[in-house]
Amino acid sequence: MKLAPFRYAAPTSVAEAVALLGSCDAKALSGGQSLMPILAFRLSAPELIVDLKHVRGLDRITIDERGVILGAKVRWHDIETDARLLSAHPLLAEAIKHVAHYQIRNRGTVGGSLAHADPAAEMPGIAASCDAILTIVGSKGERKVAAADFFEGALQTCLEADELITEILLPFWPQARRWGFQEFARRRGDFALAGVAAYYDLDAQGHASNTHIGVIGASDRPRRLATAESALNGMAVTPGAIAAAAAAASAEVDPPSDIHAPADYRRALVATLVERALTHAAR
Ligand SMILES: Cc1cc2nc3c(=O)[nH]c(=O)nc-3n(C[C@H](O)[C@H](O)[C@H](O)COP(=O)(O)OP(=O)(O)OC[C@H]3O[C@@H](n4cnc5c(N)ncnc54)[C@H](O)[C@@H]3O)c2cc1C
Repeated sequence: MKLAPFRYAAPTSVAEAVALLGSCDAKALSGGQSLMPILAFRLSAPELIVDLKHVRGLDRITIDERGVILGAKVRWHDIETDARLLSAHPLLAEAIKHVAHYQIRNRGTVGGSLAHADPAAEMPGIAASCDAILTIVGSKGERKVAAADFFEGALQTCLEADELITEILLPFWPQARRWGFQEFARRRGDFALAGVAAYYDLDAQGHASNTHIGVIGASDRPRRLATAESALNGMAVTPGAIAAAAAAASAEVDPPSDIHAPADYRRALVATLVERALTHAAR
């Protein structure tokens, strides 16, 4: 199908883009990898497209004592070619390798993926698993939103119509942290049937602490699994403790059944992926 007609604007600043978004039924365009198919299927027919291409200052990757800050226009390709991230945030670097195919990774952006909020997408999964903070700018000013509060359901977020994501902060990553990322897709580059991002720190006794286990594709939004995390916290990370956390994770998710996989399969897959991610972390 052809796209419905729309007006087009290419602002150069966040303030200008926000004013345009608030002026009528408008949509921001970043990499276009989700929005263009939506327009082509006429699932959305905005009056105005606000292209972020020329908006300045949104394409930086900053690494400092706060952690890793990704501007909204940072592309998957920028992440996978920034060698600093291999130590500054290895979990992010690993997860982004699984996003889509080469051509899409050249265009798709952090802000577009977060705003689109696909429950199986890697960046929202990393945001939720790592307690990320999003910076959002709208006509009422700037606000900071925790990833846990940002995602409200499948393709649903707390963004208002005139708001833009400008950046996301992934809090500081200690070098000794243990981590693992695992996902399963039918073909490499496809959206995952399910995925798991996990990490923990080791306390003075060598036991797991600050355990974070997040899932994608196994709920209507990316989320952490509190019961599975508690099952590992305070434990020596043995195969038995890992198996207990994996079983808890499987019981904690409420996955959908769809044309790709039934819920029972996804629940079993989550257990396998948690086990693999934590086993990778322990090594
Ligand atoms: C064949 C195919 C396979 C894919 N596989 C995967 C995959 O395996 N994993 C994965 O994670 N993704 C996958 N994607 C999606 C891809 O990663 C896109 O990058 C992502 O969904 C959207 O990013 P974008 O920059 O293209 O956003 P756009 O398509 O430009 O925008 C998406 C939505 O976000 C809004 N938006 C964009 N920027 C902002 C902003 N700064 N603030 C507020 N709202 C904003 C737009 O208005 C729109 O509603 C795939 C896409 C395709 C076409």
